[in-house]
Amino acid sequence: TEEVLHRQDKLAAVGQLAAGVAHEIRNPLTSMKGYAEFLTLDEKDPERLEFMNIILDEIERVNTIVEDFMVLAKPKMVELEEKNVVPVIKNVVSLLEFEARKKHVKLSFECPHEIIQIECDENRLKQVFLNFIKNGIEAMPNGGDLQVKTMIHNNNVQISIRDTGVGIPKEKLKQLGEPFYTTKKNGNGLGLMVSFKIIENHNGKVFVESQPNKGTTFNILLPAKPA
Ligand code: ADP
Ligand code: MG
Repeated sequence: TEEVLHRQDKLAAVGQLAAGVAHEIRNPLTSMKGYAEFLTLDEKDPERLEFMNIILDEIERVNTIVEDFMVLAKPKMVELEEKNVVPVIKNVVSLLEFEARKKHVKLSFECPHEIIQIECDENRLKQVFLNFIKNGIEAMPNGGDLQVKTMIHNNNVQISIRDTGVGIPKEKLKQLGEPFYTTKKNGNGLGLMVSFKIIENHNGKVFVESQPNKGTTFNILLPAKPA
């Protein structure tokens, strides 16, 4: 088991800069999107319409990257509130059930508690669970099992996300969370970076265990309120 979060420190400076640039990119992007959408409204030529839709899709892609980077610079984007985290996880699991089934992945959620109160930003945490579960699904191109489990450990809740996928070679573990580190054809390598940052803003930790060709487990630890 290796803690994969504390290494984020060395990225702080470059992260801040990137986030600043991202902020500047957002305004022109918004106007590009608006005008491009306007142009599609009365476009009759199907070929031109197709090109415009490609432009719109690509703008959306850049938008996602920009928004991911902005999380790095704005700790205030995480607003903590006391919440029951169980339905938050449940919600993300059900959101991904269809996608899992399509990819022959058996997705399960096990939680012996009905209520686990934590200080969290619900939407940000959803983004984190979504990233980890999606990564797990994507690690199993031929299907497999993805188990999400929660446990209480001392004053922490541990959420573990275990897949039976391709695994991560030991020498690659230290690259997890580096911006743009991806081994996927259509990946952007920002999901873990953003997820680690959000967990850090929740005063949590992330540990990873992985065996090539066997699978990977990400354990997220978050401080919990006593029941
Ligand atoms: P992306 O999913 O766009 O590639 P991420 O930051 O989410 O970006 O993940 C970075 C990389 O970490 C992935 O491309 C993959 O190589 C590795 N990775 C993350 N989660 C897993 C997993 N569950 N199993 C195997 N590899 C993983
Ligand atoms: Mg990902």
